Amino acid sequence: MDKSKCLVDVDRYRIEPGTKVDLAKRPTACDVKIDRAKVENELFPKVIGKLQDYQEKLFAQNTYGFILALQAMDAAGKDGTVKHVFGPLNPAGVKVVSFKQPTSLEKDHDFLWRFNVNLPSRGEIGIFNRSQYEDVVTVRIHKLLKGSGMPPEFVNDGVWKQRYGDIAAWEKFLFHNGFPMVKVFLHVSRTEQQRRLAERILRDDKNWKFSMSDLTERLYWDDYQRDYSEAIEATSTKEAPWYVVPADDKWYTRYVVSLITLEALEAINPRFPEPNEETKQNILQMKKLLELAAESDSADLEKLKAHFGKGN
Ligand code: ATP
Ligand code: MG
Repeated sequence: MDKSKCLVDVDRYRIEPGTKVDLAKRPTACDVKIDRAKVENELFPKVIGKLQDYQEKLFAQNTYGFILALQAMDAAGKDGTVKHVFGPLNPAGVKVVSFKQPTSLEKDHDFLWRFNVNLPSRGEIGIFNRSQYEDVVTVRIHKLLKGSGMPPEFVNDGVWKQRYGDIAAWEKFLFHNGFPMVKVFLHVSRTEQQRRLAERILRDDKNWKFSMSDLTERLYWDDYQRDYSEAIEATSTKEAPWYVVPADDKWYTRYVVSLITLEALEAINPRFPEPNEETKQNILQMKKLLELAAESDSADLEKLKAHFGKGN
């Protein structure tokens, strides 16, 4: 990617392994000089076009699968981001999965089970709308480990560090098997979240999104910021990096997420598969046949022209 043409270098939002993460110090709004109209009318559609090309190659090659995991506070724009960035792609190759509170079937397994079951296949792009990180943030804040089916001897204060290690190892395992994952935290400010939640209350067309838990979860704002900071810091790896993306300006968030996805697909560098020797030979022969047919068609056309020409 020629970064000078996108006007945003998404590396600024990438968490390099080993760096300290304090979400309070990271931007929630667009922090680069960039023209919104230019992004919406020109830059974003261009990136979407490139994503479409890469997706086709990824699908044709059938070797790698890509996973984008989205985490955020409520109303940060996960759904809108999925719709705008991945909506224009071929739905046959995109698998979106939303993870809610675990069902009893899910609780009957280890915490990574449901994510394994819902991974994309080779050739597909998988979107995790919420992810394995719920199990080190929400579960931690609401003390849900007890009653989750976990053996009691493993429910202790050390469990979170252990889970960070298990998650990072699992993500590396996926990478080594052809399934790279990128994790995105949509970073919304407290005031912008308040504005969006108020909208869910005040606007008829947004009422369906409103849930009382959105308001009660706000009481835990600081806990979420602290635990997300810790989890992101502990699990950003070369193989599965985290990006903390400003989420107060939706147009900007979508553009940045599209660029992050583009960079990840560029790293995979999918290509149309080379036909094998036999298919190559067959294609050569068919090309010759097509040429012959084209020649005879034009010869026939000449005859027809001559024939009808006489009558005129
Ligand atoms: P929106 O942002 O539009 O409200 P959402 O992703 O919050 O969408 P909801 O159906 O409102 O979707 O909420 C799903 C809920 O499930 C979230 O509160 C989330 O924290 C919770 N959840 C997900 N995974 C777990 C888990 N492992 N344990 C407990 N709660 C979980
Ligand atoms: Mg919600």
